[in-house]
Amino acid sequence: MSTDQNTDHKEIWARCLKVIKDNVNYQSYKTWFEPIKPLRFVDNVLTIQVPSQFFYEWLEEHYINLLKKTIRKELGTSGRLEYSIIMDNSIHNNNKPYTVNMPTSNKNATKNPSVSMPLDLNSKNSKEIPNPFIIPGIKKIKVNSQLNENYSFDNFIEGDCNRLARSAGYAVGQNPGKTAFNPLFIYSKVGLGKTHLANSIGLQVKDNFPDKTVLYVSSEQFLNQFIDSVRNNNQNDFIHFYQMIDTLIIDDIQFLAGKEKTQDVFFHIFNHLHQKGKQLVITSDKAPVEIQGMKPRLLSRFKWGLAADLQVPDLETRMAILEKKLYSEGVDIPDEVVEYLAYSITTNIRELEGALISILAQSSLNKKSITLDLARQMIDKYVKNTSREISIDYIQKIISDYFNIPVEMIVSKTRKREIVQARQLAMYFSKRYTKSSLATIGLHCGNKDHATVLHACKTVTNLVDTDKQFNNYVSELDKKIKG
Ligand code: ADP
Ligand code: MG
Repeated sequence: MSTDQNTDHKEIWARCLKVIKDNVNYQSYKTWFEPIKPLRFVDNVLTIQVPSQFFYEWLEEHYINLLKKTIRKELGTSGRLEYSIIMDNSIHNNNKPYTVNMPTSNKNATKNPSVSMPLDLNSKNSKEIPNPFIIPGIKKIKVNSQLNENYSFDNFIEGDCNRLARSAGYAVGQNPGKTAFNPLFIYSKVGLGKTHLANSIGLQVKDNFPDKTVLYVSSEQFLNQFIDSVRNNNQNDFIHFYQMIDTLIIDDIQFLAGKEKTQDVFFHIFNHLHQKGKQLVITSDKAPVEIQGMKPRLLSRFKWGLAADLQVPDLETRMAILEKKLYSEGVDIPDEVVEYLAYSITTNIRELEGALISILAQSSLNKKSITLDLARQMIDKYVKNTSREISIDYIQKIISDYFNIPVEMIVSKTRKREIVQARQLAMYFSKRYTKSSLATIGLHCGNKDHATVLHACKTVTNLVDTDKQFNNYVSELDKKIKG
């Protein structure tokens, strides 16, 4: 910590206060901002002291946007705010108040960004599309790229698990549309960094080429916009809008499975962009060859560029990810706790980070210091509560093991009795334990339609009531699936 940085914080906070003063009424300013003391400014993190936990929560709830904007204005996009909270304490420290450091908007940063991000494309109504009728070459409209600044290459840890995807992504960020990786197709199971990496590419393009129009959309958003455009009879606007994007990032393409019209329109947009040397980045939960419910002509396009996967990170990488996270949050916890976390949660980085955040929150709320014991207690609870996400694949695997029938048979069209029964059970449990629609379940269980799935569910329910042996199967499977 240099003295330079130490003298800065007051000045910076004074400048922030000026902005804040202009944006809140006098009474609020006096109540909520005057009592704040700037403490330090280190590594672009401004720490402010607030008088209580309640004060902190109030600020986060009511003024977080203002604070964020102010910090960004004064410190740039990498600027961060951290609170030092004076806790009144009767148990520890001989009744002396002590302080806890909390980063700002922790919640936002750790939630799945594709859900919590603002969806406005320069308009008040999130689904509306800005007027794309602009005269080319004269004026470019500004498109909100919907990128999440927390997801950059800077904080994407490299490991054996992601080396190819990361370096291809980096190359694309340096030279969008000009590498062989077009489209760049990134795939992995959930929570392994697809959204993060795809975002990093977008940020990199924007950094290198401020004039290029970059857009990140989830496939769901794309789908909803398309449906709206059909309803409002402005499909052409929709298509034109997407055709003027320079780097289009489309996340979780598997959502378009079974949505033929949307796939068609995406196919046209894809061709147009590709032909014009624009960059496409696509993510998915499966490799192109394994995606079901996607038109072959679209799938063949996905194979034009590079398909790279993200694998489960090894222990060393998991520890590096946790350490990076702690560093960026400005918190320090014992090495043994980091190690314990990295050992315990192995298959999903989002869960790994979630556990870390829970431990930090627990320790701050209950005023406990972070120890291995606290970590153990938390992990026990955490791993039980969130457990594995139950997917259709997972259910099929359990059923396949239970009856000793290969998964390929369950998802085939075979009408052999015991296989039909296993398939019906897979449909029944998928309906019960996943959020998938009947149509999606059908698609994944031998390419059946929704009526077949509905029929399967009824059959299983009937048999449970009438057939003792079958009832046994169901309850045993139920236990296994719930784990
Ligand atoms: P996916 O889109 O594959 O479900 P995300 O991109 O949302 O996964 O990643 C889940 C969490 O893990 C995010 O908070 C992300 O920042 C973090 N993460 C994933 N991979 C890495 C990495 N290599 N380095 C640092 N953080 C990572
Ligand atoms: Mg994602």
